[in-house]
Amino acid sequence: AFNAQKKGTINGKGVLNNRISEHIFTMLDAIGVPNHFIRRLNMREQLIRQVEIVPIEVVVRNIAAGSLSKRLGIEEGTKLPRTIIEYYYKDDALGDPMISDEHIAAFGWASQEEMHDISDLAIRVNDFLSGLFAGIGIKLVDFKLEFGRLFDNDFGRIILADEISPDGCRLWDTETNERLDKDRFRRDLGGEVEAYQEVARRLGLLPEGGDHSVLDLDSHRKRRGK
Ligand code: UDP
Repeated sequence: AFNAQKKGTINGKGVLNNRISEHIFTMLDAIGVPNHFIRRLNMREQLIRQVEIVPIEVVVRNIAAGSLSKRLGIEEGTKLPRTIIEYYYKDDALGDPMISDEHIAAFGWASQEEMHDISDLAIRVNDFLSGLFAGIGIKLVDFKLEFGRLFDNDFGRIILADEISPDGCRLWDTETNERLDKDRFRRDLGGEVEAYQEVARRLGLLPEGGDHSVLDLDSHRKRRGK
């Protein structure tokens, strides 16, 4: 978290992310969002198309949280008047600074046409995922996407890359606003694996009942005496 300033080991998180990301990328492919995912190879690995990553983190926000709340003094949980797309330059040493279209054009990180495709795809992914999560009682607060160029001879076509999992999304329970994402780790809330399992379970990726590894957050809180 925080560009590796906070580190921890969470058993089983990679397996859950692999499964969740596979599910989402497969559905995005089915609705015509081109992406790098080919197939999951095993619990922890997936086969993907090789792309040249565009050095931009694309953040899509529906509800104020995290750095936006801090920067603009907007209370976390405030519904934004419209969806906001932000760009950050992918450079850990610089702490992924926020950038605008102007910087992207001036420094040639992506062409105008590529940025058009990127913002268009980001909105389509947001529309689809917002509906998908709403259907399972989860608010899609914000998330991060990365894109790459898939080369066919000399032409690089923009496709969605990286992963989509609770590591790069803010997912809040619709009823309780319980955090079901990486903020559990960032904010020392505990119960990371249980939260990721809950997302996977609601997506229909884990067996219902009978599996004691599928703990709900209430039982986690009780075990921690909260
Ligand atoms: N995010 C991410 N990787 C990053 C920065 C942000 O996946 O390096 C995601 C984060 O999980 C959240 C969204 O992008 O869903 C917006 O993050 P924000 O700008 O609020 O920064 P943070 O509070 O995570 O530092």
